[in-house]
Amino acid sequence: MTDRRASAGRLGAIVPTPEDFDRITADALPFLLDHAIAQTRRCLRETGQWADDIGHEKLAVRIAYELLERFLVYGRTELPCRPLFLLESVISKHFSQSEPLYYQKDLLSPLGRFLDGLVSKAVVSRDALMALYYHLYGLTQGPIVKLLGLGPSECHRVYKNFERWRRCGWERAIAEIGITEEELRQLECSQALDPARINVEATRLVPMIQAHYRRSEPQHFPCLTRQQWEHLLTQGSGYDYRVWHLAMCRDCLWHAYTIRLARQIDQPSPPIAVHFHPMPKVRLVASALSLGGNGNEKQLPTECLSRSSA
Ligand SMILES: [Zn+2]
Repeated sequence: MTDRRASAGRLGAIVPTPEDFDRITADALPFLLDHAIAQTRRCLRETGQWADDIGHEKLAVRIAYELLERFLVYGRTELPCRPLFLLESVISKHFSQSEPLYYQKDLLSPLGRFLDGLVSKAVVSRDALMALYYHLYGLTQGPIVKLLGLGPSECHRVYKNFERWRRCGWERAIAEIGITEEELRQLECSQALDPARINVEATRLVPMIQAHYRRSEPQHFPCLTRQQWEHLLTQGSGYDYRVWHLAMCRDCLWHAYTIRLARQIDQPSPPIAVHFHPMPKVRLVASALSLGGNGNEKQLPTECLSRSSA
């Protein structure tokens, strides 16, 4: 209790410099997260979106986590400030927006929850961010590296990201999202029976979800013109921006597609090709050996019967 009072005291005082802000917020992260969850719960209750169940508790934690991340980036640009009050203002502002994402009924379907949960996870996890290129577009590591114009060390990281995601990240994310084995099985079965239907539905949902979560990274939010992308992708800089924004913006990804992969411009944006499971190990190895494979091969209907390949 003394620790909490001390944290509240420090966070309620004026913080003058970015260094002080980083130090004080890093020391008090558990307190800040608790505070963000409590505030989020209060806002959900006050806006009539609360019920006392585990689903809403998970929702509060997820929203609080996202808003805390946003506060940690945004706070450094709002100095001097009182961190505790600034965090509360970030949360209140979020709930005063006219159409927060979770009002969208479409996102309550298993496909909507899967896509929303995955993109939301990509906001806080680099492994999930890289995996997004595979789950949404079927892109494997080789084409991703080429697409993003990454250097040798970043290229190595992409392979590690994929391996960690396959080994444990995906399973943990699915548990956090709350998708059941049965729901996954049904999604994959309906995809095997009619691949186009799932992708058409995802094509409708993905831009809305991406636009929502891009707001969590104000520094990486703005879209660039084709000329600006061409410039950025040929320079040895802006790696974080490339990786983050292109995973989160289908329109800009299309510029990168046409610039880096020399695709024909015969469609307005990259085709969505949803993959529910992470890339199987056999393809991870093949891709690491050859940098090959365009990742757009069709899912085999047999995945409906067995998921052991993932
Ligand atoms: Zn963009």
